[in-house]
Order: sequence, then C-alpha cells, then structure tokens
Amino acid sequence: MFEKVLIANRGEIALRIHRACREMGISTVAVHSTADANAMHVRLANESVCIGPAPANESYLNIPAIISACEITGADAVHPGYGFLSENARFAEILEAHGITFIGPTSEHIRLMGDKIQAKITAKSLGIPVVPGSDGAITTDEQAYKVAEETGYPVLVKAAAGGGGRGMKVANSREEMSSALSTARAEAKAAFGDDSLYMEKYLGQPRHIEVQVICDAHGNVAHLGERDCSLQRRHQKVLEECPSPALNAEQRDKIGGIVANAMRKLGYLGVGTVEFLFENGEFFFIEMNTRLQVEHPITEAVTGIDIVREQIRIAAGLEMSFSQKDVSFVGHAIECRINAEDPKTFTPSPGTIKDFHTPGGLGVRVDSAAYQGYKIPPYYDSLIGKLVVHGRSRNECLMRLRRSLHEFVVDGVKTTIPLFNDLVNEPDFINGDYHIHWLENFLKEHS
Ligand code: ADP
Repeated sequence: MFEKVLIANRGEIALRIHRACREMGISTVAVHSTADANAMHVRLANESVCIGPAPANESYLNIPAIISACEITGADAVHPGYGFLSENARFAEILEAHGITFIGPTSEHIRLMGDKIQAKITAKSLGIPVVPGSDGAITTDEQAYKVAEETGYPVLVKAAAGGGGRGMKVANSREEMSSALSTARAEAKAAFGDDSLYMEKYLGQPRHIEVQVICDAHGNVAHLGERDCSLQRRHQKVLEECPSPALNAEQRDKIGGIVANAMRKLGYLGVGTVEFLFENGEFFFIEMNTRLQVEHPITEAVTGIDIVREQIRIAAGLEMSFSQKDVSFVGHAIECRINAEDPKTFTPSPGTIKDFHTPGGLGVRVDSAAYQGYKIPPYYDSLIGKLVVHGRSRNECLMRLRRSLHEFVVDGVKTTIPLFNDLVNEPDFINGDYHIHWLENFLKEHS
C-alpha cells in the first residue's frame, strides 16, 4: 500500500480523499494556491506545499509544480479528485515516467474517453447502446445536413472535446443548422482549443442516468447501480438521486450488466461512470467519465461501499474488497450541490462565511471544506458543500432532506439552499417525475 498520497485538488473533494487515506493509515500531502493557504484541506493534511498563485492555470493545473511537490515530499501516488487534472492523460503519463502512481485509469483509457467521438465509437463496439447521430466527426456542413436529414430534427451539435456542457448547440430545423454549427465550432475552439464536432439526435424529454463501475487489475468488475442526474441547469447537475425513480431492478441489472461487460472487454482499471440518456425505456450512451464524480456519495450511501478507498486499493494493485454478488442497494439517497450563488440568478457569491452550521442526525452527510470565517475565493467553482441524505425509502429520504435543509445555516454569502427548499415541496419532484429540461422550465416559471 502507498505510504504517502498527494492530493492534487482543493475544496470538499480534497477533504474526501484525505479522509479515505487517513482511515487507511496513509499520510497525505495537500497542494494549494496562495489563495488557499488557510483552506481546510491544507489544515487537515499531514503536509502541504504551495504550488503557485491563485489562478488555477498557475497552481492546480501546474503539472511541473505538482511533480516537484511529489518529489519534495516523497509522495508515491497522486489522487487527482475531479476536475483540474483528473482527466488529463498527459499528467498520468508524466507521473508514471517519474515513478509515481496516478490513482485512476490508464492514460490510454483517459485519452480514449476524453475524445467524445472515439468514446462513442468504442462504446458502440463494446455493445453499449448510443444516441443515433453522426458515426464520427462532422467535417463538412453538407455532411451535417445529411446526418440531420437521417436522424430527423431537432439535432444537437456537440464538441468532441466537450465538457461542462460547453460547445453544444441545438438545431430545430434546417434553417438553424448553419448558426448551430458555427456557434458550436467557435465555442469549442475557445473553450478546448479543438473545434471538432459531432452530431446527435436531440432527445426531447430524457432523463440523465449514469452507471458507476469499478474494475481492478485482477479481472474483477462490478457495477454499483445508477444515479439519476436529470435535475440540471445549463447541462450542469444540481441535484442527484440514487436509485433513479424511473428504473426498476430488472432495468438496473440489465444496464449495469451491459456496462460491466463492456468495461471487462476494454480492460478498464479503477472507477468510472458511463453516462446515458434514458427515454421511453431505452438507454443511449452519451459519454464516459474516467474519474471520481462529484455525486459519488449517493452511491456510497446506498451500497455502503467507500468508493475512494476502493480506488486507492486498486491503484496500489490490490483486489477490490467486494464482488458484484456482495453489492446490494439499500434505501434511497439524494445529494444537493450547495453553491455560493444567488439562488435566482446563479451569479457566484464569493465572500466570507460569517456563520456556518451543518445539519446532522441519522442518514445525513455533509461533504464540505467550508467553516465559519472561511473566505470563499472568487477563482474556483462555487461549490461549498454537498448535502447527502439517506433514508430507507425515497419518502423517508425526502423527509430527512427537508429538515436537513432547514438546519443548514450559511450566513454572509448567498447560496442555492432556497432553491432546494422550493424543489423539495414541488409535486413533480416529490413524485420523481422529471427530465433533463424540467429544472430550466421550473426556474423560468419561478423567476
Ligand atoms: P458534457 O461533457 O459537456 O457534460 P454530455 O455529453 O455529458 O456533455 O451532456 C451533458 C448534458 O447535455 C446531458 O446530461 C444532457 O442534459 C444534455 N445532452 C447531451 N446529449 C444530448 C442529446 N443527444 N439530447 C438531449 N440532451 C443531451
């Protein structure tokens, strides 16, 4: 097992990884920007190294500085968390060249799934159902029109290098194609430095359902069921639940089995998430994330499995501590992403947290790096905490969620807690009756 793990991240996820390491008797190294010198992840880690100034490009994305931090501290592995360098194949390769283990899949698989066109081709070849659309990149406008005629409007133009919902444009008709193509191309070039595009049929009212998978180097593969992440704003997840209110056990076993078999064929290593759109009883692959996800705690709540601990064991060459037959799904869990944002306009609200009190009690988990007096810097994402609530049934989970939101106190900055207070009393949400566009419609009606 590793003796010392460097955590190449910040905020709640750095803390989450530190906790797993600590329980396993592994010493931790925090890295931080000058803006994060007083951050909780720095305070809790066994050692810390400042890796640069506030902008992420010069600190959390600064590969040479992170490698130096590994060398100075003698860390034998790096956990990248999510975001930042977690899906950077070159980072994984450089670490390997320095004899440091990257806690994640191989660089080859990160690269393969990072190109969404290649990912889709690979998924299809592994027996995973995909969204109808172009078979590869769209190279000419004529080709784009042809694909659109075949699949039928509306279509979605997407960036091959996409992420965070950027570089995606809908064309409802032939007339809208030209502007969708040029806008998506320009956005993709600006955001990712790569303007390759592909196209998909635009699904009208699907749910976003993703399957958590885990594989070790000894041929063991298991799926940990699904998460429903349909409540989104601008293609970004806001609230997730496990299991999906839309699936039954048979559908869960079937899609989980398809994903597990595909990953076995691929020889995938570590944890990953295969994302689908689900409409009229059918699954359509959209992408695979080759890292730990923000919303992993709801799966942990329902399965009782510590996903980060398994990730570290697997990276160290051990077998995962369970097999598929040991996985059972108990009760229901919901996660709310509490952001320091205006709950109506979603503009970030950095500043000092004057008062901070997190809810507790049976079935309640808060993953947060915030504290009273903490100054939220304006440089990074606005997530200040994840409220994860578990109950024996969805109804019990909702009861607990309502009272937990009521207990949560964050004073001094605006947060999205009022939005969740509204959502938990909304009949469609209570009935589990929503799709990926539902939240945007709800927000429009309540603005
Ligand atoms: P990103 O990598 O930018 O997050 P994804 O391909 O994962 O992009 O898609 C993000 C979200 O965009 C999905 O959860 C869904 O809400 C929406 N989306 C993606 N593809 C389609 C599609 N073919 N039809 C309708 N909505 C889609």
